[in-house]
Amino acid sequence: MREENEEQKACDPNQCETCGDASCASAKKVDAHHAAPAQDDAKLKARLSRIRRKIIVMSGKGGVGKSTVAVNLAMSAMLSGQRVGLLDVDLHGPSVPTMLGLVGQRLEGGENGMLPIEIGGLKVLSVGFLLNHPDDPVIWRGPMKMGVIRQFIEDVDWGDLDLLVIDVPPGTGDEPLSVCQLIPDLDGAVIVTTPQKVAAVDVRKSINFCKELGVTVLGVVENMSGFACPKCGEGTPILRANGGRVMAEEMGVPFLGSIPIDPLIAELGDEGKAFVESAASSPAAGAFREIVRELTV
Ligand code: ADP
Repeated sequence: MREENEEQKACDPNQCETCGDASCASAKKVDAHHAAPAQDDAKLKARLSRIRRKIIVMSGKGGVGKSTVAVNLAMSAMLSGQRVGLLDVDLHGPSVPTMLGLVGQRLEGGENGMLPIEIGGLKVLSVGFLLNHPDDPVIWRGPMKMGVIRQFIEDVDWGDLDLLVIDVPPGTGDEPLSVCQLIPDLDGAVIVTTPQKVAAVDVRKSINFCKELGVTVLGVVENMSGFACPKCGEGTPILRANGGRVMAEEMGVPFLGSIPIDPLIAELGDEGKAFVESAASSPAAGAFREIVRELTV
């Protein structure tokens, strides 16, 4: 038998999943960390019980505008008078702080847990608020991610919310899986795609992921769907059109609507201004409002 000191020196807890030495103290520490004590389950349940609707925003691939959709749906709902939270669990590439001009904000503790950052009434939490520098990489293995996401729900003072929008990284990895497992009463998933990507298997994978986990697919949003010329108003289907609707029909899931390409979405996002607020009269902002209405009726 190894001495405790020797064990600690020799063992890297990051290797526990593959090492298989059940007698090792490091492995036990990791197991204990992963096993959720009963009082934590009660805490998680209590937090979730105060949030009426919980929606996860997913995509098959990166770059389709998933975070843009998550941010603008949350903002739109908040602007329509709902109490809304936005949880960014895109742990490796959090873009919510940039899109809302919140880079550099740090979390503070309150009487009832960590306080989300508030912007015009929208409560926002992102792993970006825990990084010393936006360029710092997050190096966490699967089970650690689950632990962090759990903390983002149970240790945060979300208060009473009408809606929690959860932005997860593209694909069907640890983060969406953790969200679906931690929130048994998830209302469902919004799946974001672009017209030219709908033929790819990735969106179908996201839909099948939800089906396998018993998560309702609330619907598909087709982003970057056509471009309306600001001068003459004529629509151009730059990336083809209607592919999202056709794919949704084929897969037997609802189609929630299309968001056109609008250069202001990218511009305002880079400037940290919420598009639906700053460009409220644009057709794209109207499309976001319509989708929120469908999701929250
Ligand atoms: P994802 O979360 O899928 O990786 P993002 O939301 O970060 O994608 O969007 C990728 C880029 O595309 C961002 O610069 C964003 O501002 C831009 N973008 C997203 N949707 C649109 C749109 N409808 N029109 C113009 N630019 C968009």
